[in-house]
Amino acid sequence: MSDYDVVVIGAGNGGISAAALLARQGRKVLVLEQSASIGGCCSTFEKNGYKFDVGASIVEVIKPIEMAFAKLGTTFQREVDLIECDPVMTIIDRDGSRITYPRSIDATAEVISSFSPADGKRWYKFVDLMREFTEVALNAFFPQPADTLADVAKMVAKDPRFLKFLPLFINSYQDIMEKYFKDERVLKTMGYQSLYFGHPPAMIPGMFALIPYTEHLGVYYPRGGMIQIPEAFRRCGEKLGMKVMFNTRVKKVVVRDRRAQGVVLADGTEITAKVVVSNINARTLYLDLIGEEHLPGLVRTGIKSYKYSKGVPMIYVGLDYSPPLDSHHSLIAVTPKGVNDYWFNNVEKGVLPKDNFGLICWPTHADKSLAPEGHHVLNLIPEGFYRLAGTNWDEEKPRFVDRTLTALEKFAIPGLRDHIKVLECTSPLDFERRLLLPEGAIYALQQDLPAAAVFRPNARSRAIKGLYLTGSSTHPGGGVPTTIASGLIASNLIERYEP
Ligand SMILES: Cc1cc2nc3c(=O)[nH]c(=O)nc-3n(C[C@H](O)[C@H](O)[C@H](O)COP(=O)(O)OP(=O)(O)OC[C@H]3O[C@@H](n4cnc5c(N)ncnc54)[C@H](O)[C@@H]3O)c2cc1C
Repeated sequence: MSDYDVVVIGAGNGGISAAALLARQGRKVLVLEQSASIGGCCSTFEKNGYKFDVGASIVEVIKPIEMAFAKLGTTFQREVDLIECDPVMTIIDRDGSRITYPRSIDATAEVISSFSPADGKRWYKFVDLMREFTEVALNAFFPQPADTLADVAKMVAKDPRFLKFLPLFINSYQDIMEKYFKDERVLKTMGYQSLYFGHPPAMIPGMFALIPYTEHLGVYYPRGGMIQIPEAFRRCGEKLGMKVMFNTRVKKVVVRDRRAQGVVLADGTEITAKVVVSNINARTLYLDLIGEEHLPGLVRTGIKSYKYSKGVPMIYVGLDYSPPLDSHHSLIAVTPKGVNDYWFNNVEKGVLPKDNFGLICWPTHADKSLAPEGHHVLNLIPEGFYRLAGTNWDEEKPRFVDRTLTALEKFAIPGLRDHIKVLECTSPLDFERRLLLPEGAIYALQQDLPAAAVFRPNARSRAIKGLYLTGSSTHPGGGVPTTIASGLIASNLIERYEP
């Protein structure tokens, strides 16, 4: 007799959503989380009265999340107070000029047409393509398992329009952008978003070019911080008897006769379970927690062949004034080619760039309750990466923060430093230490075509029976809605295969 029906390792979005859904199936579920908080990369912490989001700063493409809450007998909107962010973003160039895109497709066409009438017309063609593709993706791709070629065939059968979009998988993000937009100023507003998937525009499939469109379907911020999303799953799960233990690190998955039978904690305690769900990096899971001795040769080679996804530093700033910004998200303008150059000349060589770009998140634009009255919060995501040539993040962090603030003062937020009341930075090395993300990898594994869908570690392990994967490591990959889709997929597979 096992202690639990299901033990879940990690309380990130993938783990906590799967756990709640499994509790809904009537299973006895235990979630083990090594940190003191729910949500992993999608959580929120407080310092001196300011609330900062650890990583994720908005949620969009919310259908998979709505599907998960519907399965729990409730709605996303009932569980989480979602504030819509309109405008969806402002792009700030180094000469100080700004372009702001509203949510409305038509109003965005007007903005683009004001400086490039031809691209303004092509914006509608781009929207037509991406509207239909997004429908197909949400229907047939994101919430379905992609473990085998038969699963892919089922995706096509579910929505045969899938085939029409094969060119989006063969062409790159950059190909799609440059096909639809010719004006450099427009391209500068849509280059950076490829890094939302962890790769430069030349290296990721064109399907990811849906982001500059889906931002106009609605960008949302949960009142109270991003942690409200995993908290809502926790609340729903706990009502159904699910238990969560914090500060509890899993050291080993117990495998006997090629079947997962439970876990061993860092203090040596063994907890038995009929099914184990992993929400942690798949390389760590298979190579460290399970151990190579339990893996067939091909699986060993396969799992070692994955590279970690990119890491990023985050700078959290508490301010005593309202910063001169226009949107919840501001991006520093960069062309697709500029992002590629950064990748090949900086990331691959370990040299941080002099002229950095990235994202400025201003959550108190949407939700004033995150800071004392009249005060504001900024979460900055300047581009950066784990491996630094000739130095390390503990040495580099103060210089990096200083350079970033100096640059932002020059062309984006004049006078910023005079108003800082709280300043913190989480480097990729800190992400590795605090959330056990190897190399600070925010999407666990590379997210290019060779590691997508059937090529990503399976949701239902074929090497170890009774073992299921959720989170960024498995299909459909990193991101808040996608990891929740993975929770949905794992719980559906467990319902089917583990009666
Ligand atoms: C800086 C940043 C910005 C982002 N911005 C966005 C955004 O705006 N929108 C968006 O959609 N996505 C964004 N993302 C991505 C998104 O946050 C993540 O892809 C998603 O939240 C990851 O969920 P996950 O299920 O993979 O779990 P994770 O968040 O990776 O959580 C895994 C959990 O497992 C725990 N754990 C690890 N090892 C063990 C162990 N041995 N025992 C017990 N527990 C363990 C960890 O402590 C952690 O809590 C961002 C990510 C980052 C880092």
